[in-house]
Amino acid sequence: MTLPLAHPALAAADPELARLVAAEERLQADTLRLIPSENYVSRAVLEASGTVLQNKYSEGYPGRRYYEGQQNIDQVERLAAARATALFGVDHANVQPYSGSPANLAVYLAFAEPGDTVMGMALPMGGHLTHGWGVSATGTWFRGVQYGVRQDTGLIDLDQVRDLALKERPKLIFCGGTALPRTIDFGAFAEIAREAGAVLVADIAHIAGLVAGGAHPSPAPHADVVSTTTHKTLRGPRGAMLMCREEHAKAVDKAVFPGLQGGPHNQTTAAIAVALHEAAQPSFRDYAHAVVANARALAEQLAARGFDLVSGGTDNHLILIDLSGKDVPGKTAAKALDRAGIVVNYNTVPYDPRKPFDPSGIRIGTPSLTSRGLGVSHMPAVADWIDRGVTAARAGDEAALTAVRAEVAELMAAFPAPGL
Ligand SMILES: *Cc1c(COP(=O)(O)O)cnc(C)c1O
Repeated sequence: MTLPLAHPALAAADPELARLVAAEERLQADTLRLIPSENYVSRAVLEASGTVLQNKYSEGYPGRRYYEGQQNIDQVERLAAARATALFGVDHANVQPYSGSPANLAVYLAFAEPGDTVMGMALPMGGHLTHGWGVSATGTWFRGVQYGVRQDTGLIDLDQVRDLALKERPKLIFCGGTALPRTIDFGAFAEIAREAGAVLVADIAHIAGLVAGGAHPSPAPHADVVSTTTHKTLRGPRGAMLMCREEHAKAVDKAVFPGLQGGPHNQTTAAIAVALHEAAQPSFRDYAHAVVANARALAEQLAARGFDLVSGGTDNHLILIDLSGKDVPGKTAAKALDRAGIVVNYNTVPYDPRKPFDPSGIRIGTPSLTSRGLGVSHMPAVADWIDRGVTAARAGDEAALTAVRAEVAELMAAFPAPGL
C-alpha cells in the first residue's frame, strides 16, 4: 500500500528537506519521548502554525498597528489573548513573545535597569538560564543572585530565599524552573517578594498545562507577572506569553514591542489560540491529571528498582534521577537510552560533583507519553526499559539496547502520536 504524501508540495520542491521531515516524523512515532519540556501538538495546532497568517506583518497591538490590512490578524490576536486571560484567570495576556527566553528578557526590560540585582534559582539547582544565570545576558547585564534547594531534602528552602531576598533587595524574583519535580508555593514566594519590595515573576513554562488543567496550583492570584512558553505541557506551538494584572499591562506590552521585538509571528499566535481552546476543554483537565498520575507511578516504579530520585519523587510531570549510585554518568545513560528508543536528556542534579556537560543525572517526564494515551498501567514497563537501558549502558551491552528498542517501538505503534 502506498500512503498519500503528507507534504506533497514540500516533497516536490525540496525532496532532501522532505526526507528529513519524514524521518523526524518516523522517529517521533517510534520512540518513547521522555524529555519533560517536549510534547506532541494536535493536528489542528500544526495546521494553524502552517497558515498564510505567516505572510503578514503586524507590528503593534490589535487596533494600534503600524501596518494596514489587519482585519483578520487583529481578531486572531484578540482571540488568543482572550482565551489566555480566561484560562489562566489573569487581567492581561501578551501573546507576542517569540519564545520563553525573549519573554523573560521583556520582563527585565519592563521592571529593571541594567546593573540591578535580580534573583532566581541557580541553573544547576533546576532554575533557567534567563533567571539571572552568569552565561545568559540576564546574568551579565544584571546582577544575579541565586537560591537553590537543600542538599538533604532536594526541596527549595523558603527561609533561605527570604533571607537572601531581604539581604540583596532584588528588583525581580523569579520562581519556577526546568528541573523542579515539586509543587511551587507561589503564595510563599509572593509574601517574600512583598517583604523585599520585589516584582514576583512566576515562570510556569514547564507546568503551564498542569496549571491550565487544574493539576498544579495557579500563580495568578500571587505573581505580578506570569511568564510561560506555550509548547511544553500546554501542548501548543513554540511560543510564549506574558500575563499580568491590569496595572502592569502597559509596561509588559511596551517591553515586548517596541522594546524587544518587531512583528509578531501571526501563524504562531493563531496556533496558540487553538492550543488554548483545546486546553479549555474537559478532556485537557483529564490530560493534565493523567500526566501527573503517570509521573507519580513511574517515580514509584523507578524507586522500587533502586533509582535515586531528587526530592524522593514528584508532584508534577517531571522526575530528576541521580545516577551516581548506579555508577553510570548521566550522559552515558542518556546516549544509551537514545539507542534503546528512549529519548531523555542528561541533567545536573543539585550539588552535582560532575561538570554540567557531563553531569550525574537524567531528567525525564510524562507529557509526551500521556499525549499518546499511555496510562499508569504502562509505567512498570517504562521503568523496566529505563532500568535495562541504564544497566546496559554500564555494561556496554548494545544487544540489550537493541532488544529494548524493538519492544518500545512495538508498544508505541499501538499508541499513534497526535499530529503525525
Ligand atoms: C523552557 C523554559 C524557558 C525558555 O523557553 P525557550 O522557548 O526555550 O526560550 C524559560 N523558562 C523556563 C522555566 C523554561 O522551562
